[in-house]
Amino acid sequence: MLLKDKVAIITGAASPRGLGFATAKVFAGQGAKVVLIDLDDGASKKAAAMLGEQHLGVAANVADERQVSAAMEQVLAKYGRVDILVNNAGITQPIKLMEIKRENYDAVLDVSLRGTLLMSQSVIPTMRAQKSGSIICISSVSAQRGGGIFGGPHYSAAKAGVLGLAKAMARELGPDNVRVNCITPGLIQTDITAGKLSDDMKAGIVAGIPLNRLGEASDIANAALFLGSDLSAYSTGITLDVNGGMLI
Ligand code: NAD
Repeated sequence: MLLKDKVAIITGAASPRGLGFATAKVFAGQGAKVVLIDLDDGASKKAAAMLGEQHLGVAANVADERQVSAAMEQVLAKYGRVDILVNNAGITQPIKLMEIKRENYDAVLDVSLRGTLLMSQSVIPTMRAQKSGSIICISSVSAQRGGGIFGGPHYSAAKAGVLGLAKAMARELGPDNVRVNCITPGLIQTDITAGKLSDDMKAGIVAGIPLNRLGEASDIANAALFLGSDLSAYSTGITLDVNGGMLI
């Protein structure tokens, strides 16, 4: 078991078809105690209960400093340590450049970028004291391509910001053996994409993917397992592209 007795926090983890829950399942299967954070208390607790009683579901908006610190108090009271943080919560808005209003910008950057910063700040003192930890940030191929199908330009900006923030954190935290790495998923079949792709659209997208298929949530969860475990002990500040070869 790659994560035996490790404590892992995953944000945006309550959506049953989402990348966060898929990662939680893989981590739990490898022996981790998983804290599933999401906006809705009932949904977070239900998702945790599906994995077993040693796991914890916590409601928090990752963009709200007070809610984040209250969540962290609960985690430390129950487990006393944090080994892995997966900054996965994110939202998309399929709008064009000139349609972006302040509220769109604020909403998207708040969840992906401020959320990543606040959640990371909340675990760093504990990881530093432990002299070990792995922070994984879920960015997107949209950050690298300057656009995607469902996110707007502000989503690309938020996810590109996550890449820069992660590298800066990796530099600063390396001496304390706290690693920070990113995953840039391509197009993965989750609720973000469900029902929004016609067969024609799907065929057009798949034609541009060398591996000839859309991604599965488990593709991202397995990449997170690599980055969360000691298999990646000498990697920090890296970006793992999990996109079927879309950028070749
Ligand atoms: P999803 O919508 O299925 O899940 C996202 C989860 O985040 C939801 O459960 C939602 O309630 C939660 N969330 C939203 N705002 C939150 C907040 N403020 N605080 C706490 N939780 C919050 O999405 P997904 O497809 O599983 O995406 C997961 C991550 O992967 C996102 O960051 C997304 O941008 C990124 N991503 C997804 C794809 C894809 O194709 N699915 C591609 C690239 C990147």
